[in-house]
Amino acid sequence: MPYVLIINAAVSLIMGIALVLVWRRDRTQTFTRYIGIANLVQLLVPMTYWWMSLDMDALQVVGGVVLSVVAGVYTTLLIMGTAHLANRRLTYRTAVILFVAVSLVNGISVVWGGIRFGQASMGSFNTLVGVLCTYWLWKPATTHSSSERSVGPLLVMLGLIQFIFVAYEHMGAEPLAAMGALLRMTLGLVLLNAALDRSAMTTHKMRVRFERLAERSLQGILISTGSGRNIVYANPACLAIYGVQDLESLQVAAIARTIPKSERATVERLIAQTQSGEIGDSSYEAERFRLDGSRIWLRCHYFQTEWDDTPAVQVLISDETARHQSNQALVYLALHDDLTGLPNRASMIKSLSDRCTPDRINPDFVLILINLDRFKLFNEAHGPSMGDNVLKAVGQGLRAVVATEHEVMRLAGDEFALVSAAHGKGDTAVDIVSAIKQLLSQPFQVAGQEIFLDASLGIALYPNSARDAESLLRAANAAMHVAKRTPGTSYRLAEKGFERGSSNALEQEQSLRVAVENDEIYLAYQPKVDARTGRLTSFEALARWSRPDTGEISPVDFIAAAERTGLINTLGTALLRRACRQIAVWSKEFGTCVPVAVNVSPLQLLDPRFPLLVARVLDDTGVPPALLTLEITESSAVQNLAQTVTQVEQLRVMGVQVAMDDFGTGFSSLNMLRSLHLHAVKIDRGLIDPLPSPDAIAVVRAICQLADALHLHVVAEGVETTAQADAARLAGCGELQGFLYAKPLRPEHAALWMTSMADTRSSTTL
Ligand code: C2E
Ligand code: CA
Ligand code: CA
Repeated sequence: MPYVLIINAAVSLIMGIALVLVWRRDRTQTFTRYIGIANLVQLLVPMTYWWMSLDMDALQVVGGVVLSVVAGVYTTLLIMGTAHLANRRLTYRTAVILFVAVSLVNGISVVWGGIRFGQASMGSFNTLVGVLCTYWLWKPATTHSSSERSVGPLLVMLGLIQFIFVAYEHMGAEPLAAMGALLRMTLGLVLLNAALDRSAMTTHKMRVRFERLAERSLQGILISTGSGRNIVYANPACLAIYGVQDLESLQVAAIARTIPKSERATVERLIAQTQSGEIGDSSYEAERFRLDGSRIWLRCHYFQTEWDDTPAVQVLISDETARHQSNQALVYLALHDDLTGLPNRASMIKSLSDRCTPDRINPDFVLILINLDRFKLFNEAHGPSMGDNVLKAVGQGLRAVVATEHEVMRLAGDEFALVSAAHGKGDTAVDIVSAIKQLLSQPFQVAGQEIFLDASLGIALYPNSARDAESLLRAANAAMHVAKRTPGTSYRLAEKGFERGSSNALEQEQSLRVAVENDEIYLAYQPKVDARTGRLTSFEALARWSRPDTGEISPVDFIAAAERTGLINTLGTALLRRACRQIAVWSKEFGTCVPVAVNVSPLQLLDPRFPLLVARVLDDTGVPPALLTLEITESSAVQNLAQTVTQVEQLRVMGVQVAMDDFGTGFSSLNMLRSLHLHAVKIDRGLIDPLPSPDAIAVVRAICQLADALHLHVVAEGVETTAQADAARLAGCGELQGFLYAKPLRPEHAALWMTSMADTRSSTTL
């Protein structure tokens, strides 16, 4: 075989292998595979010629068939490769049809026209492939590089050489074979160059894409090596998050400046472990600093990567400061009261629950509930905005008088709570209570007015009073309701059993509604007697409620509940009507009746039509006004003196007598007593109880002299002993009332007093 043919074959082999190897490195370059394999297939051609040159018919036929098939494969691979180069896709079906067609035509040419004719057919096909490739790659609006474009003409020339070789055999094979080898080499190099170009282009595109993604990302991206000590990349978003212009500024002691001291060691460990692959991806949220020192809230996601062949950690950083702040604001709103800015009920429950854990080192603490007395009334008299201002002032006052480590909260309406710092024992409670009492002993300055307030305090101690938040609260609440019974600012420590909420206000309010509707609340009548003769002078009607499951409930509690829930008007009217009906019954039974006193809540007096209501009830029941006395409290008069004056006057004109109850406990001024045209004053049990101590006698005597000057009767209430009775009588009280004579009685027992009146009348004077 001539050496040029060997060179030709060697070129085909080298180029074929080179192209296939390129494809193996970058599988996207499919054209290098097809054309590479075509080059290798081409190597079979000399073998077929050799077979055909042997003087054996059978081998000649086999050689002819194999040559046609090899030429068919070569041409088909060439078309597929160039199509791919021109970004076109040939389906396998098309490829198979092409292969069969080309092989057939080649075969027929060889068989029919002999080897030269067959070669001419093959050369023509290959020239046509070159022309087609030129057309594809040179078409306007395509963007192929010049080296890619040269592929078509090179293929045309290769085809033509084959063709010329056949047509002009006399020119000699060698020069053409040498040219063929040269062309094939050139084509191979062009294709290799095109493949490299394409790879470089893809890499470039990918780099640009990555840069765009990273540089335009709103999420911060940071890459560090050396366990976080060396920051090698930070995108603009990352620089903006930390408030710096360039990577160098971030570089300097980034960990020390952006991470709070307490977390540095943890973060450094996390980065080192992520970098070494000891732990996988991890993310967490935490507070960080910008380089100017301001606080930010970041969510960071760490994962392992590499940078310039060194292990590195990539951190994706989201600035969650705004979300964190709005969350914090929501939490603040949920746990604080709008009006006073103090922590609210939810906050208190949380605080109590947190504290009621047995494993705390210093578990003891004190819960104090503070409820303003008669605040509803105050609100109705002065309007809600004034009420709000007062609540604000109380909140501020409480916050100011107790130590900062104690929590002051507003639970609802006029209810505040105080939770002491840990290890608050009895002493703490005493200190806090005296601070609150001191606060309330001074008037509050609100909108240019001086406001005096009283409050009832319920105190519960953890763990003595109860051991869980809810029971503790119930105990303090129950204690607070007991404190409510004492006029003025008073406090009460939770007793055993309070945590079961025996005076659970809410539950009581619910059943009270039912009781009022069902007329379950009735009246007991307590006699008042003449201090000198002991004769029955009148009765006081006192409300009674016995619940089947709970037993007797004090009117102090349920009247307060009725006042809170607005039931008091309905209940008050029902009781007034009940008392009048009783008077009517007794009058009918005995031909006469002593006056009966009915207690009136300050809230009832707020209604300007109250005297009219009384008139209607008297009218309805046919009771003479002189048989009805109304007991009003000092507080109602104090809170709305002008209206009380008018109402008392209207009642007096009607013939109904009005007495001042609980005298001596509150704010009564001489002026007030003079303005109200009352019938009597009832000295509070608190002043009668210490009798006959000389001081107490002096006080009672002073009240009696004052009342005498104002032409008022004086009733002493709560007389339990003869010593008290004697002292009260000597001090000037005209009427006495108390357990010494009788407890509040059911109507049938009170009626016995009416019948024994005659006997009493005839009995000796006391
Ligand atoms: P109040 O009007 O000062 O009634 C006198 C209270 O003293 C009654 O208590 C009576 O049972 C009690 N008491 C009488 N004598 C003695 C005694 O010798 N020793 C002691 N320790 N207590 C004595 P009660 O019935 O528990 O009523 C308490 C308060 O409830 C009343 O105080 C009054 O403010 C209110 N209340 C009772 N019934 C009514 C009512 O129908 N309407 C209104 N608005 N309030 C009522
Ligand atoms: Ca009374
Ligand atoms: Ca009283």
